[in-house]
Amino acid sequence: MPLLARMITTPVVVDIRRGAIADLADLLADQRISAGGRVAVAVGPRSGGQLTESVRPTLREADFYTVEGGTVDAALRLAGQVRGRSYDAIVGVGGGKVLDVTKFAAARLGLPMVAVATNLAHDGIGSPVSILDNDAGRGSYGVPAPIAVIVDLDVVRQAPARSVRAGIGEVLSNLSAIADWELSRDLTGEPVDGLAVTLARTAAEAVAHHPGTLVDDDFLRVLAEGLVLSGLAMVVAGSTRPCSGACHEISHAIDLLYPERAGAHGEQVGLGAAFASTLWDDPESRSRGTLIANCLVRHGLPVTPAALGFSLEEFTAAVVRAPETRPGRFTILEHRDLDKDAVVAAVRAFSDRMNAAYATTGTKDSNGPAGPQTEESTPDT
Ligand SMILES: [Zn+2]
Repeated sequence: MPLLARMITTPVVVDIRRGAIADLADLLADQRISAGGRVAVAVGPRSGGQLTESVRPTLREADFYTVEGGTVDAALRLAGQVRGRSYDAIVGVGGGKVLDVTKFAAARLGLPMVAVATNLAHDGIGSPVSILDNDAGRGSYGVPAPIAVIVDLDVVRQAPARSVRAGIGEVLSNLSAIADWELSRDLTGEPVDGLAVTLARTAAEAVAHHPGTLVDDDFLRVLAEGLVLSGLAMVVAGSTRPCSGACHEISHAIDLLYPERAGAHGEQVGLGAAFASTLWDDPESRSRGTLIANCLVRHGLPVTPAALGFSLEEFTAAVVRAPETRPGRFTILEHRDLDKDAVVAAVRAFSDRMNAAYATTGTKDSNGPAGPQTEESTPDT
């Protein structure tokens, strides 16, 4: 008899609510991750301090390590410190960098990794990918996904509004990535995993259609769940394909070309998704682009290169460079295979269209890369 199911590794715990971090020790014990709380806790320079003090009393057997920077070196350093000390798991407490470093170190040591996310900037909180800087720039490393994901909404509310808001762009970019994947299926025969698509698209549509803002617990929960679902989609697909297409290629190119000026990952991929959607010429794709851009604007995210802090020429250079950042990944960029002049025209048309459509929304170019933190989108810390 054939096996009519497939096994998918998922976190044993996903806990998204106010006050979740206070129950960290109980959660580790209840789920048999670490009955005695013998864990290594990695914190960032900022996520340490008060947060560390709040969990320390309940994790008396734990040791705390401070992680500096999101580099392979930092991850190897952490692995070296933790090695041979008989921990049950490594707990990463922080935003993107700490979680990426902790995931990589845990993978090196074969230990389970618990993600305690302190902001919602990107889908690394539950993904099987660790993004780290190395000598050659920035690399994506495949690692086991976290065995538990904890998001304390009270803690997220303490994070900078801009970083939490960036997560909206990250989840929305799934729509662009899925379109790229399905295009590749139709044109190159690349297999598409329908379950991965279901998870990634549901995440993005839940965020896109939610009427709330970052001040609402309900919206924060949907955003956090969207990031977790995105991570699961990548686990199911066995790659970043459901969440990374032309949108991410453009963002990677910005990182490579302008390492000192690159913005938040979620801001870049959101803008990349909005731009990529204009390269299609069918009505469905156009409405997808409108859905993405409307949502970005509603939450105060940049929808023009200038709003991200780049000239049209600079953004054009990133679009031209984008396909090289992900050899072998077929997206609308590879399909259109635009020459420099065509990219110049496409970027100009995109920028004009965004300026015309959203000229009165307060996300015009003049607001600069971060934009003002509007009252509605600033968490009420
Ligand atoms: Zn991403």
